[in-house]
Amino acid sequence: MFVQLKKFMMADGVSGDEKNVSAVIAAEIAPYVDEVYSDAMGNLIALKKGRGENPKKLMLAAHMDEIGFMVNYIDDRGYLRVSKMGGIMFNAAAYAEVVFASGLKGVLVPEPTVPASDYKSANVYVDIGAKNKKDAERRVKIGDTCRLSPSLTKLLNGRVYGRPIDDRIGCLMLFEAAKSAKRFENDTYFVFTVQEEVGVRGAKTSAFAIMPDYAVAVDIGGSGDIPGCKPFAVNLGEGIAIKLKDSMVISHKTMVDLMKKLADDNKVPYQFEILEKGGTDTGVMQQAGGGCIAGALSVPTRYGHTGVETIDMNDVTGGVRILAALCETKLA
Ligand SMILES: [Zn+2]
Repeated sequence: MFVQLKKFMMADGVSGDEKNVSAVIAAEIAPYVDEVYSDAMGNLIALKKGRGENPKKLMLAAHMDEIGFMVNYIDDRGYLRVSKMGGIMFNAAAYAEVVFASGLKGVLVPEPTVPASDYKSANVYVDIGAKNKKDAERRVKIGDTCRLSPSLTKLLNGRVYGRPIDDRIGCLMLFEAAKSAKRFENDTYFVFTVQEEVGVRGAKTSAFAIMPDYAVAVDIGGSGDIPGCKPFAVNLGEGIAIKLKDSMVISHKTMVDLMKKLADDNKVPYQFEILEKGGTDTGVMQQAGGGCIAGALSVPTRYGHTGVETIDMNDVTGGVRILAALCETKLA
């Protein structure tokens, strides 16, 4: 799974500009589903038809977009100013390498007199090594997006770090579930959504088009086992987290109970997540049309939205088993 995950992470897909990552996922998942298509906003949808009579619609969503930057100004000396795309923490992004879809690299640097706590779009810039504005404009134009350079590295005990684990790990889990489920009882829509990081926008339109009966988002969560963090009952390596609540959703009891049962049946360890801040695609899938039975799985994650997002692949393996079992369950 490490190699597959890396493949998904290397493809770029800053919010609103997801075509490259979409093409990679589409090619990989096509052999395991009946249909692959994109909608107007760019959501990638892979449909595996259920074999049962009158199958229910199950929508599994993971966002393929990632946080990044959009060039909004080029000054006379050739430095670029950038607008943030999604929840960038500039103190974590400073003094790091950025890369454009063209392969052009640069470094993101704060102005020297600004304290780290005040880093923001207005006082950081990207240095691509240009000699002046004209030189910069030969390679970059206003509206181009770049991201912190991707990476994935193994740590001890099956743990890995890098970026953008958020949310290519969710994309990987959907892919692995499509690959490993033995039979599909429901019409299962694997949806790789766009623009989650700027306000769960792609999940909203795709859910309205699909009108699922059941929906599950897979995304990164938090972890309560790092020095100085707030009390939080989820730890890395202790199992995939079944979401109970975040700031956008209260998971449907039916979905929570079902995922708990599937985890127990498959002897998969799990934890329950209550996230005080933040939301996922579940928040809008639940409210599409007349509403649906929605829940979410969260991968316990340290240092989210930084260049060193850290997860435990054992949690991921368990989560894939639950998703595959969900595909195999005849939903009423
Ligand atoms: Zn995410």
